Amino acid sequence: MGLTPVRVAGTMNADLRDRWLARANDRIAAAGMRAGSARTAVVELLAREGQCLLTVQEIIDRLPRSGPGSSSSVYRAVDELLALGLIRRLNDHGDGAARYEIADPDRHHHHFVDERDGHVEPFTDPEVEAAIHAAARRLDVDLSGHELVLRGTRRAR
Ligand SMILES: [Zn+2]
Repeated sequence: MGLTPVRVAGTMNADLRDRWLARANDRIAAAGMRAGSARTAVVELLAREGQCLLTVQEIIDRLPRSGPGSSSSVYRAVDELLALGLIRRLNDHGDGAARYEIADPDRHHHHFVDERDGHVEPFTDPEVEAAIHAAARRLDVDLSGHELVLRGTRRAR
């Protein structure tokens, strides 16, 4: 089954971009990491275009001047950002490729995967959030995060 790349055009949020960029730079500095050009380029790209799922290959393809040989530094940068909690990984929307998006404590969304074409759509739903928090209370759990993927087909509208 051919899956289309995730495209979420027009959803870039400038506040989220700036807030995440500042937090990313703080954490990278606090971790004692030296400024690396590959990491800096990946951070800047993710701030703008990584607000919803991207594969590492898509990150590589969108970076300017990323020639062969630089992809390993992109993979390394993505691993570092993941370890710092700055991005989150969602596995396998059907094609086996891990996808990444920036993590923001104040704003998150979930994903709907259309099983017909593999298109992934972000969504938010306050009732879902309320239900998840209520479940956590019933389970006596201090919630630090949650993930939800809906799969199915969209009905004709
Ligand atoms: Zn997303």
